[in-house]
Amino acid sequence: MTDRYAVIGNPIGHSRSPRIHRAFALATQQDLTYEAILSPLDGFRAIVTEFFADEAGKGLNITLPFKEQAYELSQVKSLRATQAGAVNTLMKGKDGRLYGDNTDGLGLVRDMTQNLGWTLEGKRILVVGAGGAVRGVLGTLLAQKPAQLWVTNRTHSKAQNLANIFRAYGNIEALRFSDIAPQSVDIIINGSSSSLLGELPPLAEGILAQDACAYDMAYGKADLPFLTWAKTQQATISDGLGMLIEQAAESFFIWRGLRVQTAELLAEIRAELA
Ligand code: NDP
Repeated sequence: MTDRYAVIGNPIGHSRSPRIHRAFALATQQDLTYEAILSPLDGFRAIVTEFFADEAGKGLNITLPFKEQAYELSQVKSLRATQAGAVNTLMKGKDGRLYGDNTDGLGLVRDMTQNLGWTLEGKRILVVGAGGAVRGVLGTLLAQKPAQLWVTNRTHSKAQNLANIFRAYGNIEALRFSDIAPQSVDIIINGSSSSLLGELPPLAEGILAQDACAYDMAYGKADLPFLTWAKTQQATISDGLGMLIEQAAESFFIWRGLRVQTAELLAEIRAELA
């Protein structure tokens, strides 16, 4: 019997997960299928239950807007999932229970540290945004032991809320855009959806330290406003395509116990997007 995997979301047509996981399966000679499933907004639980009722159904990726519902459905939750309050990877365990994990944070950190060669330990990191994507990565960022982690957001109370949730795991503070000190940021990560809207968060000139790095979790557009701004501040820059592929690689590892090489696929998908 061929093992079945899928990504569930709404909408789902844009998802690159089938492309990525089929490439991983081919590279590691795994006999599996990976499809994209569109779930009705009020039908997520039924779709998941049906998928795992089939003995061949082994694992699911979950994307917007169902990550919180997937968390609720998970019978066993990893620390990463609990911190994020959201699940992007579901697995049917040998004991029949549904395991929920969140690989977004690891995907981001692996892209920054291994693919891009950036150091996070001891650095002053500023994260922009306070939505689901940011909540999904703060725990893993804190585990890298930065000197300081700041969260800033258009709606300040949401940044404060995240700082309160994550204070138990490390040195984290909410900051207003206007309170970011000059030359105080070594690494800036845009986890807001501003880039998708063609907008730039209100970041002042000169907040970046020398040799700063700037990462936008968004990808797919050549001229992301945040990265354009970061370039004018002399920062080393990257978009979030590597994060997408690394979070997928971690899901694949959870399901199949195999580590995949990601560099070639990253280059291929980047070329396809261009
Ligand atoms: P949410 O809708 O949950 O959160 C959006 C956040 O962006 C909020 O903090 C919101 O602020 C802020 N925001 C929206 N518009 C603006 C603006 N014009 N200026 C400043 N801030 C703004 O979205 P997600 O957290 O799910 O996604 C955020 C980004 O992360 C997206 O670009 C998404 O594509 C990307 N992402 C990338 C992944 C990858 O693998 N590379 C994985 C997951 C997400 P407010 O609270 O004030 O509304």
